[in-house]
Amino acid sequence: MASTVRTKARSTIHEFDLIHALHQQYSRRISSVIQGIGDDAAVITSRAGQWTVLTTDLLTEGVHFDLRTATMTDIGFRAAIANLSDIAAMGATPQYLLVSLAVPRTGASRQVHQLYRGMMAACRPHRVGLIGGDTSASSGAWFLSLTLVGIVPPRKALFRSGARIGDGLYVTGTIGDSLAGLRLLNEPPPRASRHPSTAVLSTRHRQFLTGRHLRPTARVAEGQWLSTHRFATSAIDISDGLSGDLRHICEESHVGVELDLGTLPLSPACRAYAASRKLDPVDLALTGGEDYELLFTVSPRQRLRLERTALKQGFSLTYIGNIHPHRFGMQALSSHGTRHRLASRSYEHFT
Ligand code: ADP
Ligand code: MG
Repeated sequence: MASTVRTKARSTIHEFDLIHALHQQYSRRISSVIQGIGDDAAVITSRAGQWTVLTTDLLTEGVHFDLRTATMTDIGFRAAIANLSDIAAMGATPQYLLVSLAVPRTGASRQVHQLYRGMMAACRPHRVGLIGGDTSASSGAWFLSLTLVGIVPPRKALFRSGARIGDGLYVTGTIGDSLAGLRLLNEPPPRASRHPSTAVLSTRHRQFLTGRHLRPTARVAEGQWLSTHRFATSAIDISDGLSGDLRHICEESHVGVELDLGTLPLSPACRAYAASRKLDPVDLALTGGEDYELLFTVSPRQRLRLERTALKQGFSLTYIGNIHPHRFGMQALSSHGTRHRLASRSYEHFT
């Protein structure tokens, strides 16, 4: 339905003009797209026998993002990464994007373009095409919903439910960086701050951590590699925090786990941030969401081959624990060798 979205006194966004501009600037020709933006629905051809993988995410201003600490471009980028990461965690290849948007009265078309620039910057390396969406006015906040479509060869999709007793537990990259970055963004600027230890953190570490929060990476190549070689028995992306996302694997696979806290991959910047704030970096790694790294399990007979090929491919993986029977529960082994029950403390919307 067409509408003229009346925003500030003199700025009005006309829906059709906006959609036309978005189409011109952000969608591109893809041979498998019969009809992209411009009709009642998009039409695509699918490769025979492939499985289709679908994911959608809704982001609300004030709940998922804050325009005081992130630009529209950052928000668009992160929104796309969250969806790309979900497709990556299934071992699939992302292909098409649909975007639904509600723009507040104070919103400007310049901001919408910034949002799309961010989304497309995240999608471009994966050759994901924008094929549709919907646009509305909002009486309050910004709302942004992304739907991503991908494909995976039959029986190669990675599920949370595939972990088996004896499997090794692995994670890509480093974890805890995004939470540290978010906290830095929410702190008063270093000079104005009275925080005695703020100055301890170097600009380089600060930039690394805020960059990891604002411009995360979706591990698409790693996910495809894990599925193609049938290395992973189960997988999930770390969007809510290691302990919470690990719980999902345990529950869906009906297994227990021993997590070796001494082996968690922490970046030098995350360690430096934790030291400067007198925090335990392991806590940041366990609870910090939005790292968008992959957490996955590998059968004992595949582990050597996995680690060898990862080295050759230049993928960064860390072995962080083992899968146990369900009755074992979730346990953490500390670096001092003591064992305790692993509490899962992750982000919950309604608590
Ligand atoms: P309808 O009235 O059928 O919902 P629209 O005028 O909303 O049609 O949409 C026209 C075309 O523009 C469709 O192809 C739709 O997918 C696309 N579209 C609408 N809004 C957006 C958006 N925010 N981003 C990308 N494509 C959009
Ligand atoms: Mg519409």
